[in-house]
Amino acid sequence: MRIPRPTALVVLLAALGMGAAPAAAQSLRGSRPSIDRMYQQARNHDLTFYRSGTGVRGAAREGDLVRLSGNEHYRLSGVSYPYVLPSARIFVQRLAAQYHDRCGERLVITSAARPTSLRLVNSADRSVHPTGMAIDIRKPRGRDCLAWLRRTLLSLEDEGVLEATEENRPPHFHVAIFPTQYRRYVSNSGGGGDAPSEGRTSSTRTTRTASASRATYRVRQGDSLWGIARRNDTTVERLRAANDMRSNRIVPGQVLIIPAK
Ligand SMILES: [Zn+2]
Repeated sequence: MRIPRPTALVVLLAALGMGAAPAAAQSLRGSRPSIDRMYQQARNHDLTFYRSGTGVRGAAREGDLVRLSGNEHYRLSGVSYPYVLPSARIFVQRLAAQYHDRCGERLVITSAARPTSLRLVNSADRSVHPTGMAIDIRKPRGRDCLAWLRRTLLSLEDEGVLEATEENRPPHFHVAIFPTQYRRYVSNSGGGGDAPSEGRTSSTRTTRTASASRATYRVRQGDSLWGIARRNDTTVERLRAANDMRSNRIVPGQVLIIPAK
C-alpha cells in the first residue's frame, strides 16, 4: 500500500504540534493561521467538539468539563453554557485574580463551551469553543487595564501556552488555552505572565508553598529584567533560568523567583 494511512498522518501531526511553541504567534490579530493553530491544538489533544447542550452537560457530569461559577475576581455575562476544560478554569482563576488586583474590577467572561449547534453566524467554522478549551473575555473600558490584558495575553502566547485574538464585534478577547502546555507552565511557575494561584488550583498552591522560603519579587510598572537583576545582585541569565523564562519579557504583577547568591 502506497497511500499513507490517515491515522499515521494524525499521529505525525500530533507529534509535530504538541509541546512546541507555535511559530509566528505573538500577535493578537485574528488570522487564518491563528485559527488553524487553535484548531490543531484541539486535534492534538484529541478533544471532543460537543454538538449540543446535552453533550456539554454530560461532559460536565463526567468531570471532563468543569463549571465556571464566578468568584470575587471574575463574573459571567450572557454565558449559556458556563463549562470549560479544567485547565481553562485554572487560567481564568489565575488571570482574574491578577486582573482584579491590578484594575480593581472583576474580569468579565462572555463565552465558554459553545456547542456546535449554537455556532454564531460570524464565527469561524473551525471554532474551538465546542471543546471547552476557549473562553471570551470582555474588553475592559479602561485604557490601562486593556493594555495590561493585551500584554499579559501576549506574554502567555509567547510562552506557547495559549493563542489569543482581539475581536471587535462585540469587543472581546478570544483565548484558546492549550491544556498540556498550560498545565506544564503552571506547575513550573514561579515565572510567567499570569497571576499567583488562588481558588481550587491546588497544584500551584503546593508550588507556592514550597517556594515560599525563596526570595521573590513582584514586577512593577516600568521594571526591566536587567534592573531587577542588578538590584538583586544577580544576572539576567540567572533570573531567566530560575524562572524558566524563554525571553526577557516581564509584566507588572508577575512574581519572579530571585536566585540565591
Ligand atoms: Zn471566542
